[in-house]
Amino acid sequence: MTDTARWTNWSGFVEGSPRRILNPDNLDGVVEAVKTAPGPLRVVGAGHSFTPLALTDGTMLSLEKFQGLVSHDTAANVARVRAGTKLGSLMRLLQDIGQGLPNMGDIDKQAIGGALGTATHGSGRRFGAYHTQLEAMQFVDGRGEVRELTLTKDRDMIHATGVALGAFGVLTEVALRNIPTYRLHRRKWVLPIKEMLAEFEPMMGAHRSAEFYYVPFSGHAQFIASDLSDKPVSPRPPEEDEEGLATLRKLRTMLRLAPWLRGMIIRSVMARLPAEDYVQDWLNVYASDRRTRFNEMEYHLPFEEGPKALAEIVELTEKRFAEVYFPMEVRSVAADEFWLSPFYRRPTCSIAIHHDAANDPRPFMRAAEPIFRKYGGRPHWGKMHNLKAADFEELYPRWKDAMAVRRDIDPEGRFVSPYMADLFGLK
Ligand SMILES: Cc1cc2nc3c(=O)[nH]c(=O)nc-3n(C[C@H](O)[C@H](O)[C@H](O)COP(=O)(O)OP(=O)(O)OC[C@H]3O[C@@H](n4cnc5c(N)ncnc54)[C@H](O)[C@@H]3O)c2cc1C
Repeated sequence: MTDTARWTNWSGFVEGSPRRILNPDNLDGVVEAVKTAPGPLRVVGAGHSFTPLALTDGTMLSLEKFQGLVSHDTAANVARVRAGTKLGSLMRLLQDIGQGLPNMGDIDKQAIGGALGTATHGSGRRFGAYHTQLEAMQFVDGRGEVRELTLTKDRDMIHATGVALGAFGVLTEVALRNIPTYRLHRRKWVLPIKEMLAEFEPMMGAHRSAEFYYVPFSGHAQFIASDLSDKPVSPRPPEEDEEGLATLRKLRTMLRLAPWLRGMIIRSVMARLPAEDYVQDWLNVYASDRRTRFNEMEYHLPFEEGPKALAEIVELTEKRFAEVYFPMEVRSVAADEFWLSPFYRRPTCSIAIHHDAANDPRPFMRAAEPIFRKYGGRPHWGKMHNLKAADFEELYPRWKDAMAVRRDIDPEGRFVSPYMADLFGLK
């Protein structure tokens, strides 16, 4: 237990001083915290969300000591793990029992409980976000009671609470349906953004996993494709992302007033990038190290609206926000049935924009948001947005049902911080 520690999220944008930070190492400790610790109670994973989801001036509950494998079923490819397990450890423990996560996002630093809490996702038209792997959940509700849900018996409740923003209880264990371990052939190449947008649907659909980054002011994108392979492994080239960002930042600073020259130089650098082409086991492919801190907004749009929305975001950035140098990330995610999932019943194109953590991201984000909204976007729960309950009611067909379940699970509002009250319209 720590008293009045200063806490910040990964980017440093969200900060506060919870009255207490608790690190229970067993279920009784979690129950005790829910029943007695000063509220509001918020669970924190790895603090990688860009919004104040985990922040509270009451008790912050970390499941840092709640990690590791509980049990597994080899025939069914199901593994039950503690909810504080970091994705990096999760990958390794799954590999050791012959299982693999079907897909992953960009990093492996999040806790699985945190990743589930905000519908964290990777890219691939046939793949849902992590929560679509849920087979069973154990959580402590707002009354301090331990609940067990399984997909076979409690399908509706799993769909209601699988994406929960830490507002439906403290997740202590989860069973995930995985797949047998596999190998991926990963390739990256550069192409003009016009070509990319014209071929958006076939290119995003032609690979097991596909995504691309648009580099502002360059007119070009880097496309990343991963496909199953049974070839021998080859070395994964050293990551160049950090050096690339340093170059883009330098060009931004030096050539802010000369966008044409800036674009020309970026294009020539991109043309000289070594083509990436390797085969590796799944756990060595997806995640990268992100050292340069940034803030991020990501909206999930109906898949077919992706190219139009991106073209408008690019135009906005290049006309009005010369300070932006981080590449924009474009991914696809399969539809699912989870009530608070941004992918609810909607094949999705996700577009993410980033802003250097050293500068105020809000003017850029505020200008971009109406474009995302115009195309029916739903914001990533863990990334910057300015939406409130009335907006979510329009965007989520089962919003009211989810809120009724939340009231039942947490009648006293133990998990309701001022930020959550605002988000859920509870004032
Ligand atoms: C560098 C970077 C890269 C990223 N890449 C991606 C990406 O590729 N794809 C993507 O979709 N997102 C990505 N994100 C966003 C990130 O995955 C989400 O914000 C995720 O929720 C963070 O996980 P966390 O463990 O840090 O959770 P936190 O941010 O600490 O918490 C997130 C939410 O989960 C809740 N929570 C955490 N643990 C529990 C628990 N045990 N029980 C109940 N609730 C819990 C919290 O209360 C909170 O509401 C990235 C973020 C960063 C900083």
